[in-house]
Amino acid sequence: MDAIINVNGRITGQRDAVISVLDHGFLYGEGIYEVVRTYDGRPFLLDRHLRRLRRSAAMIALRLPFTDAELVARVRETIAALHREPGVHQDRDVYIRILITRGVGEMTYDPEPCDAPSLVVIVKPFTPPPPDIYEKGVRVALVPIVRNHPSSVNPLIKSNNLLNNALAAQEAFRRGAFDAVMRNYRGEISECSTSNLFVFRDGALLTPPLEAGLLAGITREFVLELAPEAGIAAREVALRDPDLLGAEESFLTSSTREIVPIVGVDDAVIGSGRPGPVTGRLRALFRRKAEALASWG
Ligand code: PMP
Repeated sequence: MDAIINVNGRITGQRDAVISVLDHGFLYGEGIYEVVRTYDGRPFLLDRHLRRLRRSAAMIALRLPFTDAELVARVRETIAALHREPGVHQDRDVYIRILITRGVGEMTYDPEPCDAPSLVVIVKPFTPPPPDIYEKGVRVALVPIVRNHPSSVNPLIKSNNLLNNALAAQEAFRRGAFDAVMRNYRGEISECSTSNLFVFRDGALLTPPLEAGLLAGITREFVLELAPEAGIAAREVALRDPDLLGAEESFLTSSTREIVPIVGVDDAVIGSGRPGPVTGRLRALFRRKAEALASWG
């Protein structure tokens, strides 16, 4: 199913969505984004996504001339247009991508001539990931591409400048893996190319701290909050390859995929090679919470 796209207030089908090639988002990858999905028509943790969007904007010195209410209105009118498409049921959950770029300017890094940021909202029917990945788990690849140094393009910025992640993911796909695990410049594990990473070992759920250079995933944060409720001790700690390879369980997290069990890293088997009980418990709890808490705020 095609996407419906809202470019600066103009809503069209995906074939007719246009943006200037002089937009610094296109020229230089200068932009930020968020991805949210709905549960029963309501987005989950939208307030946190909007807060992160503003933090990302501030980190690239992009002033956002939109209130949260205006952003939400843009999203809602785009979803309404999607739901008017033939064959798209009103109840169909949606994938939402909000992108804000520096805007149209001169061919110089100087942002001064850019008059206003461009705001793009892409929505399409949400297609849940194949059930297989939850039932059987996935294999990831430890790739040699290093996650950006925090003093370079800081991984805390959810930036449209995604070449580093794309190269890592493509390396993983070539190896037949579901996602790429990247290390930071110190050789510690940071995160995957499109998700955060957790391991369970010695009775505790562990994930690298933000200081390891990674995106502050909304799902990661929520899982850290959920774990104690599920009776699982969780902490942020630097991880190295042996911590992952010797884990009893591991999983990755993201807004569109929730909690996906990792059962292999390249040729190494993780734990029993099957999704583990801790991952299963957290996934069930996550799903219950997401369905209960999803809201337009
Ligand atoms: N890390 C990276 C690099 C990502 O692109 C994503 C997906 N946006 C995540 C982590 C997961 O973040 P979230 O849980 O907020 O979707």
